[in-house]
Amino acid sequence: MSAADHGVQAFVGIGANLGDPEAQVRESFGRLAQALPNTRLTGRSRLFRNPPMGPQDQPDYVNAVARLHTRLEPLDLLAGLQAIECACGRERDGTRWGPRLLDLDLLLFGDQSLDLPGLRVPHAGIAERDFVILPLLELAPGLQIPGMGPLELLAQRFDGASLIPIAEPEASVSAAEGGG
Ligand code: ATP
Ligand code: CA
Ligand code: CA
Repeated sequence: MSAADHGVQAFVGIGANLGDPEAQVRESFGRLAQALPNTRLTGRSRLFRNPPMGPQDQPDYVNAVARLHTRLEPLDLLAGLQAIECACGRERDGTRWGPRLLDLDLLLFGDQSLDLPGLRVPHAGIAERDFVILPLLELAPGLQIPGMGPLELLAQRFDGASLIPIAEPEASVSAAEGGG
């Protein structure tokens, strides 16, 4: 078994740009916490609004990163993530980087580097994507990315200018008070 009995820390990149993307991303945290066997949700980044990658004729994305502690094997974790995508209505029409209700990418699986049919870890796009690297930095600033070095170094390439943080729902509660 590659995943030791005590399990490993894994990170999941979350993205959505159809339906109510913010609600989809928030809901996915709940599903990551509850729908995966032998797995706990141990952290979540803020949500960010972000222009689309690839085809531009689609709505902006909402992105976030989740931290898990799992005793699943990597391919079983990926299968679990894909099951959550399907449960959230994800349909695959073959368009690369096309619009979607929910995308869950397995970014990191412990300190492992894997190149398996259908699973590459660290995720192939990780180093080029500010919407992955900057939320990851919030969750785990001291992280080492296998084969790529310190996360903090990778993050220095990005100023985050195109990532708009989305306020937590609690922040709007007081809006009902004090209106003149
Ligand atoms: P990208 O992977 O560049 O972010 P995408 O998320 O739009 O693009 P998908 O259509 O969701 O791509 O996935 C295509 C395939 O990528 C999946 O069938 C899956 O097997 C494979 N894949 C390889 N490595 C990973 C990984 N680390 N996490 C998720 N899927 C992966
Ligand atoms: Ca993706
Ligand atoms: Ca994906």
